[in-house]
Amino acid sequence: MSSEINPTDTFVNEMNIWHGQTLGLKTVEALRKNRFDAAFFETRVETANAITEMISAGMKVAFGGSQTAKQLNLQQLVTAKGAIILDHNAPGLSDEQKMEVMRQQQICDVFICSSNAISLQGELFNIDGYGNRVAAMSFGPRKVIVVAGTNKIVADEEAAWQRIRTIAAPINFKRLNRPNPCAKYGVCMNCNLPSRGCNVYVATKRKPPMMDFHVFIINESLGF
Ligand code: SF4
Repeated sequence: MSSEINPTDTFVNEMNIWHGQTLGLKTVEALRKNRFDAAFFETRVETANAITEMISAGMKVAFGGSQTAKQLNLQQLVTAKGAIILDHNAPGLSDEQKMEVMRQQQICDVFICSSNAISLQGELFNIDGYGNRVAAMSFGPRKVIVVAGTNKIVADEEAAWQRIRTIAAPINFKRLNRPNPCAKYGVCMNCNLPSRGCNVYVATKRKPPMMDFHVFIINESLGF
């Protein structure tokens, strides 16, 4: 196979960039109307730079189990700025210790996570197993930063829950190696197993008053 760049690949890439920009900017505009502090970035590097600018030494920073945040290397970057990481997945923690870290995360300085889906109307949709992520997204931390690729943008609320049932949740439980039917069939089967991770469903339709809440949309496909 030739190593020359396929002109169709270049064209498809340009079209995807245009589509991401168009939907991303429209979503940012809608998020701002809903009083979120929203911004659009072309790349994960620009986004990571903007976030690290918001971090100072000694700040307590927590992450809501986000693959997108990991793809941006945010934990390493904020640690390098001198932040204190509240990590409920640190090795060796007992269940009780993990629970205590999750409680502390609710009152941290900065909580960083992604969103399972974001609608073109500027609304966030999330499911959670323990509820710690959606709780922190609703009230408590001094600052919340949501990072999401344009692949998380959907047409409306119905499409958001559909995305969660057919993409976000099944891939997440496959990642976690749970014995849930979605991890076998690739779509939600509305299971009732103890390992079910879809227990709390939250739609954040406007920024909660008095919260410092940022949503950064990135023109890349990130997380799931
Ligand atoms: S309800 Fe069960 S089957 Fe459906 S996505 Fe959640 S864990 Fe998977």
